[in-house]
Amino acid sequence: MPNRAEKEIWVFGDLRNERFFGFGLNVLAKAREVAQPVPAKVVMVLIGLCDADESKIDPVMQAFIPVAAAEKLCLAHGADKVYVLDVTGLSAPRADIYGHVLAEAVLQLKPMLVLFALTDFGRELAARTASLRNAGLLADCLDLRIENGEVIASSPSWGGEIMAELTFLDKHKTGFATVQPQVHHAVKARGVPGAVERIPVKCPDGANGIKFLSSELEPAEHRKLEEAEVVVVGGAGLGNMDDFGLVRELAAAMGGEVGATRPPVLQHWVDKDRLIGQTGKNVRPGLLLSVGTSGAVQYTAGIAEAKTIVAINRDKRSPIFQIADFGIVTDARAFLPILTTKIKQVVMRKMADVLCEQKGSASREGEGFGAKVCKLREAHNWSMEDLAKATGQTPEFIDQVENEKFSPSVGFLLTLAKALNVNPGTFLSKAEKDIIQDQRSKAFIKRTRNYSYQTLTPHAESDHLRAFMITIESRQIHKPVEYKHEGEEFIYVMEGELEVTLGGKTHHLKRDESIHFNSDIPHKLKSFSNEDTRCLVILYTV
Ligand SMILES: Cc1cc2nc3c(=O)[nH]c(=O)nc-3n(C[C@H](O)[C@H](O)[C@H](O)COP(=O)(O)OP(=O)(O)OC[C@H]3O[C@@H](n4cnc5c(N)ncnc54)[C@H](O)[C@@H]3O)c2cc1C
Repeated sequence: MPNRAEKEIWVFGDLRNERFFGFGLNVLAKAREVAQPVPAKVVMVLIGLCDADESKIDPVMQAFIPVAAAEKLCLAHGADKVYVLDVTGLSAPRADIYGHVLAEAVLQLKPMLVLFALTDFGRELAARTASLRNAGLLADCLDLRIENGEVIASSPSWGGEIMAELTFLDKHKTGFATVQPQVHHAVKARGVPGAVERIPVKCPDGANGIKFLSSELEPAEHRKLEEAEVVVVGGAGLGNMDDFGLVRELAAAMGGEVGATRPPVLQHWVDKDRLIGQTGKNVRPGLLLSVGTSGAVQYTAGIAEAKTIVAINRDKRSPIFQIADFGIVTDARAFLPILTTKIKQVVMRKMADVLCEQKGSASREGEGFGAKVCKLREAHNWSMEDLAKATGQTPEFIDQVENEKFSPSVGFLLTLAKALNVNPGTFLSKAEKDIIQDQRSKAFIKRTRNYSYQTLTPHAESDHLRAFMITIESRQIHKPVEYKHEGEEFIYVMEGELEVTLGGKTHHLKRDESIHFNSDIPHKLKSFSNEDTRCLVILYTV
């Protein structure tokens, strides 16, 4: 073992994979800051499996960072020294054995402080090593500093409700601490190149209480959450299991994955493998929606690498807004259904447009209707039998459709669109769509040509959102209206009194009263007063 001449702060470098190693470099950057006033040297401690029998190396070790590469990275990130503790006869990292190895090195070299990135492995290793040295451990530190030779840590306590300042009872003994790696960032450092020292360590006898049987990589489907581009996280603010379902619906509409804070997991609203945070998973999506979560540091530790965070919370003072890129102050239970509907509409429209475009180019390339049905079916992970069941046909029929043996009826297309949850327009050619669009425009012009209409959105015949003013003469009936397109209609009475017969039910609206309904419900309007009735109509069609 080398002789220690100066004070040292050690950082454990976790070589299991690039990500964990990166966490160690983040903590190294913090250690350099902490060491400055002492002054102390910063040492990265690596445990290599140098002499392990190749045939015994476990397959999970494929991502293991080679020690030589790690040494270079440590020095490039400002380590004054790198200690490589080579353990013989070990085929995979084990916290129990590493604990003995580190404890032995600590006994010999007496660093003032040993830091570990806060991961499951780091937490266990820190606890084992500190216990073997009968020393103090500061857990989950967000910040650390040294004042008058005393290490002071800021750490969330009382279930995250308070931030406590903690120190070691004995400031002369080596102290141990786990550090939140996401709140610090690795920094490349120029300067005097550090030195590497190799320290052979025999796999300690005292560490044989546990026998390693086997290990296997987590199946890919369990890693979906960590690899998702969109994650919707639900928190305690959802209130109950049913309303947590709103998070699932939103995630499904956005093609994302569901995550959760600890309370929904403890309440069994969601499986524990969805937990995000310090004791759960770390996610790195492009977009993360955090719904009904307060932003406790144990949770935000798991979302720090999300590119864009949108928080939805009814309390505008909630700490989650401090880390969110966008904040929406509202009741999530009322807002989520609206958001999900809007997202579904947008997604559906985009999907239909994309499919139509694909159809245009595909038909040029010889990929026609059958191929599209096949693609849509496969996108749903459905077999031919599944699609046959959903459309009330036989698998043979579906097979013929996909192989374009005949042209299916319009009735089948509508059932198919419903089953596949796509706009029926998806199956129309551009020419067919243009004809329909043209007919829609003509019908609109015809409807609004009447003297009793005033268009408030001129040239918007083909738009989704239109507004007009209708004037119906005293006691006169307006012709029945039934828009063929799904959408919403809003009528506001500005003058007079209106009778609205909506799907067989009659409503009387006085001045300043309004009604809102689905536009495809047949409806009749009648002026119910002795004067003209004037109403504002806003029409939104999908
Ligand atoms: C050692 C330790 C480890 C931990 N590890 C983790 C971990 O890995 N992951 C984790 O998540 N937690 C962890 N915790 C727990 C953590 O401290 C918090 O208690 C937890 O994250 C809080 O979850 P929450 O934000 O969903 O709930 P709360 O803190 O109760 O927040 C609920 C939020 O919802 C809002 N709200 C209420 N109703 C509505 C509504 N109708 N609409 C919109 N907003 C609403 C409220 O304003 C509030 O801000 C850990 C704790 C400890 C001590």
